[in-house]
Amino acid sequence: MLSKEQLEELRERLLAERRRLVASAHSALSFAMDRDRDRVGRDSLDESTEEAMYSTELRLHDREKYLLAKIEAALRRLEDGDGDECESCSEPIGFKRLMARPVTTLCIDCKAEREESEDD
Ligand SMILES: [Zn+2]
Repeated sequence: MLSKEQLEELRERLLAERRRLVASAHSALSFAMDRDRDRVGRDSLDESTEEAMYSTELRLHDREKYLLAKIEAALRRLEDGDGDECESCSEPIGFKRLMARPVTTLCIDCKAEREESEDD
């Protein structure tokens, strides 16, 4: 079980991560707007280059949305008092692991068994 101080520290860590993601989502958006402005009067740019840039940007955005959802879920788990519980085996995840990977829902042992979710 985490102490009150540890819970607070973890919550701060998640909130800081959320701020960072929101800020980078905003800068991706303004990049897209600048690019659209630049396009006026410029017709030499290769269409496939344009297409590739756009899809990279969309993927980035999807990833940010995905991470934001994980952060929101982690904050909710903290509120509910089970932020330290492994969703697979119900053992404590541990404060050190949570500080390193605040969105994780698995203890280190269960994580080792499930390698597909690399964001944890
Ligand atoms: Zn576990």
